[in-house]
Amino acid sequence: MIRVTYMTIRKNQRAVTTACHSKHVCLLGMLVRKLVRAPPAVSYWLGVGQTRAFERGDDIIFLRHGTPRRSATLLERQLRYLRRVFTFVPLREFAASFGAPRVPGRRRRAAIVFDDGVRSNVRVAYPLLRALGIPATFFVCPGLIEERRWLWSHEARRRLQFAAPSLREELAREVGAPPEVEAFVHWMKQLDFRSRTRVEAMLKHATAAFVPSEPDREAFDLAGWDELRALDPAIVTVGSHTMTHPVLPSMSDGEIEAELSDSRRMIEAKLARPVEFFSYPNGDFDERTLAGVRRYYRAAVTCKAEETPADPHLMRDVHLPRGVLSLAWKLNHP
Ligand SMILES: [Zn+2]
Repeated sequence: MIRVTYMTIRKNQRAVTTACHSKHVCLLGMLVRKLVRAPPAVSYWLGVGQTRAFERGDDIIFLRHGTPRRSATLLERQLRYLRRVFTFVPLREFAASFGAPRVPGRRRRAAIVFDDGVRSNVRVAYPLLRALGIPATFFVCPGLIEERRWLWSHEARRRLQFAAPSLREELAREVGAPPEVEAFVHWMKQLDFRSRTRVEAMLKHATAAFVPSEPDREAFDLAGWDELRALDPAIVTVGSHTMTHPVLPSMSDGEIEAELSDSRRMIEAKLARPVEFFSYPNGDFDERTLAGVRRYYRAAVTCKAEETPADPHLMRDVHLPRGVLSLAWKLNHP
């Protein structure tokens, strides 16, 4: 029944897409698309039916970053929905059978990981995970925790936003970057490690008056060791996300080695827990980082892995879409 309806919807969508000659028509198209998707998406969400694409789909690792308080209700709805249609398993169990074909009839399995180790994961996501009995993995950066620093990209973005447009344009001209904030940060991610740290230092100097606000701190402060120590190991596995969240392929062999090995060693020492899993910052990897990750970790996740290879050191994770209905829709129409 749902499939028949969906075919009609697809036809309507195609018609709308071809008619998109102007901005207004496109906006209308978006609205129509939302309207026609809503009823089936609600039925998926309620568990009334799933498409064959859902039933045939693979197991999935879901990825989240920060979990601000304002997103708590939505996150809870998403987790409750996912728990109804997937069996959540710890990453260890997910990795152990990664790539093996799904036994017919077995429910799809899901794991969920939270990258970066921001405090909001501990304060907002953790109580939900515990209440719902959903195992998760938090990937943290021990070098940043130790120095009470933010991720460099979070800090660069906030400092660029803080700078007056004229100052930002001057900085951009000086270093050869695009002046728009997101494009500037993206440009920094492409730099080799040393050039990036030079630009960071310049930016810091130029915006010396920047003081993080309370909302900034709520969004970007990382969880401390005491907070991580207090997490129930039956719910949260702690993994490494490198020492300082660099773009690993931009570093020398020795630097990569240190980021991979020191981070594992430091988390294990601070938390007295084994660290077996790794998440590549920005999902970026190359042959050298992959070889290092294989040496130090049982398995690893990246949003930039191909869909198919069954390599436990390149397990693909996918961002949780915003909204419950968009999540239900996406899972049923991948
Ligand atoms: Zn990250």
